[in-house]
Amino acid sequence: MPLDSCQGLVRSRAPYAVSEAQSPGRLYPEPPPVYRSEYQRDRDRIIHCSAFRRLEYKTQVFVNHVGDMFRTRLTHSLEVAQIARTLARALGLNEDLTEAIALAHDLGHTPFGHAGQHALNGCMREYGGFEHNLQSLRIVDCLEQRYADFEGLNLTFETREGILKHCPRAKAPELGALGQRFLLGKQPSLEAQIANIADEIAYNNHDIDDGLRSGMLELEPLCALRLFQEKHSEVVSRYLGLPKKRIVYEVIRRMIGHQVAALIEASQANIAALSPNSVEDVRNAGRPLIAFGEDMHEKHLELGRFLRQHLYQHYRVRRMSAKAACIIQELFETFMQDPELLPPEAQAKAMAQGEEDPKMHRARTIADYIAGMTDRYAILEYRRVLSPADLT
Ligand code: MG
Repeated sequence: MPLDSCQGLVRSRAPYAVSEAQSPGRLYPEPPPVYRSEYQRDRDRIIHCSAFRRLEYKTQVFVNHVGDMFRTRLTHSLEVAQIARTLARALGLNEDLTEAIALAHDLGHTPFGHAGQHALNGCMREYGGFEHNLQSLRIVDCLEQRYADFEGLNLTFETREGILKHCPRAKAPELGALGQRFLLGKQPSLEAQIANIADEIAYNNHDIDDGLRSGMLELEPLCALRLFQEKHSEVVSRYLGLPKKRIVYEVIRRMIGHQVAALIEASQANIAALSPNSVEDVRNAGRPLIAFGEDMHEKHLELGRFLRQHLYQHYRVRRMSAKAACIIQELFETFMQDPELLPPEAQAKAMAQGEEDPKMHRARTIADYIAGMTDRYAILEYRRVLSPADLT
């Protein structure tokens, strides 16, 4: 069993866990950290970057200011990291790497959640499109400008690989070693696979919680879902007269626990069947090894379908999405027509001459500026730039 040592801290890991000793490392070579692993350093750089702080004010499902009790992208990312670390530790994988990927996975999201990404992708149709996974990578590779020696955060290959969950085939050749896996049909590390499913477990469960709290979801239709129903009857039969709020929490914590345990067991069986000896074996497995068994997979899909139908398409969410699309489109079009309306830093970037076609370059810079906005900044900027009533 290979050991990763970090100044006396020795952890034993499975042979198919990512190990920094075999890592292709960072694009810009740096001396190794003294008291941390390379992946702890990645995690710490992610936590200190400004895109991470802005997650606090970005929509998950509910616009940030509609209620202080709902998840934001920041609290969502923390929940994903918590679930992902449990999975990584139980499976003998690299917990530091898993945590770094989980915390960074949503950095590239626009304001206003998926509605914002959809609108910005529409605006960017003629200019190469907009996709939040690619944007997350763009943030950690070049948009964060904090360090003297390099652009971006100079993260390790494995953290960048995990952040790039999807990539259109047409884009893959531009991404060098990172794009290869999409061209060759390879899998990412198990740590990246964990962060991916932990994301789904986290949002399915917390969106039920937020949906109920917002009044957009009702308990009764949720009880038609197998996983919810099982846990709900367990809780109400065990705790007679428990207030609804506590019933909901007890149900949700059991659902998360059950899904995590089921995922560990099914993944252990998948790993045992293939018996990989290295990360390379994992990459060549032809399918993800971190996966639910058939029954839990079905229950998991059922939750997702329910949320799409009853929450994400709820008329109140759709109204927010329609307004968000309007804000993003109008800001984009206005800045494209007159880049001099951009604040100085974004303006200098948009007007900079490079090798790229100037219009393509301007569009990408404006997309970066808009994607980096928090919900409230986007609303404010819309008022400042486009509202005739705000003549200040
Ligand atoms: Mg997410």
